[in-house]
Amino acid sequence: DLLFTEGRVDFQNVCFSYTAGKEILSEVSFTVMPGQTVALVGPSGSGKSTIIRLLFRFYDVQGGCILIDGQDIYKVKQNSLRSYIGVVPQDTVLFNDNIRENIRYGRISASDQEVEEAAVAADIHHKILSFPDGYDTEVGERGLKLSGGEKQRVAIARTILKSPRIILLDEATSALDSQTECNIQASLAKVCANHTTLVVAHRLSTIIKADQILVLHDGRIAEQGRHEEL
Ligand code: ATP
Ligand code: MG
Repeated sequence: DLLFTEGRVDFQNVCFSYTAGKEILSEVSFTVMPGQTVALVGPSGSGKSTIIRLLFRFYDVQGGCILIDGQDIYKVKQNSLRSYIGVVPQDTVLFNDNIRENIRYGRISASDQEVEEAAVAADIHHKILSFPDGYDTEVGERGLKLSGGEKQRVAIARTILKSPRIILLDEATSALDSQTECNIQASLAKVCANHTTLVVAHRLSTIIKADQILVLHDGRIAEQGRHEEL
């Protein structure tokens, strides 16, 4: 199978609809250079999360193509594609298992200590220790219900542990308190430093730090540039 090395992402004239007749993305083209952070912004429903889902290959594009390091992602085995990408969705769903295994899923060979270090970095460690069963707490549909922000931090811990070449982050629209947000951004900045990052950004602090901002309107890229240019 093909191997990716650098982490360059190209969308070339990508068209997509979930249901026939209603185009969600129209001729979307952009490039994320290796190591860059690109922020996707735009109104609700403009197609931001759809771009993330397509890159992780939840759906097939209907026109154009998506390349990683010049290779069409549909010509690569889904497993190798996904081993190369870490995704933190807008609404994280946890597996029916304990919290430790939910984090370890990022890298199955990780030790318990590495799992906990990732949880510390994602600012979720103390929360986990506050449960009577700690890291053994069962979560997911049949277990303890965590808030949206807490689930997303579990997904961030998983991604930190995985340390993939490409990170896709779909920021939760719900506001986190500013200290938590600050801690998470510092942790992510650490993991993201040498990684290509595509982030759906709702927070100004994320947007300001991005190397490039793509403004999406009705499934088209309406503007692009750095924060000071837009
Ligand atoms: P938000 O900021 O609210 O998260 P978004 O920019 O991420 O919005 P998307 O989730 O990409 O928006 O959705 C783009 C459009 O596609 C919306 O009109 C939405 O209703 C539609 N859509 C999203 N998911 C599906 C689906 N599974 N089936 C059908 N239509 C969908
Ligand atoms: Mg979204």
